[in-house]
Amino acid sequence: MREDQTELEKKARDLLHSRGVEIKDIAELVYYLQAKYFTDLTMDMCTYNVNRVLAKREVQHAILTGIELDVLAEKNQLSEPLLNIIQRDEGLYGIDEVIAYSIVNVYGSIGITSYGFIDKQKPGILNELNDLSSGKIHTFLDDIVGAIAAAASSRLAHSYAGDLNGQ
Ligand code: MG
Repeated sequence: MREDQTELEKKARDLLHSRGVEIKDIAELVYYLQAKYFTDLTMDMCTYNVNRVLAKREVQHAILTGIELDVLAEKNQLSEPLLNIIQRDEGLYGIDEVIAYSIVNVYGSIGITSYGFIDKQKPGILNELNDLSSGKIHTFLDDIVGAIAAAASSRLAHSYAGDLNGQ
């Protein structure tokens, strides 16, 4: 763990863990997205880029906001009709995706196409999060996790091209 982690970053990481999402799960999504473009891609490179994305304040804010709404919905502590919309993960409700865009935008447009792709494919942890039989509400979390993976993919691609300047 980096020593310069802020309290906010620690909280965001703890929240992901508490909802069953590990860094390794997100790194596997990055690998899924990028393995076809980089033949020498390793899980270490994927993990490194996920950790860099999680260090961004916009990303931490999105995690805190989305997971809070999921947890409140799980405890029936939101008002209607929002409670029902979030509990059912209603198809026409797109605010979970709007929150995800605040993450994918951090590293530019490759993140947006990767997010759309992975949101449709739902590999790995995304499939688990979408399993409604678990009794858990992950209306926001699935989009957030997909968006972190997409942003990390975009970061990886840009850093390969050498144009990130340490962002
Ligand atoms: Mg969703």
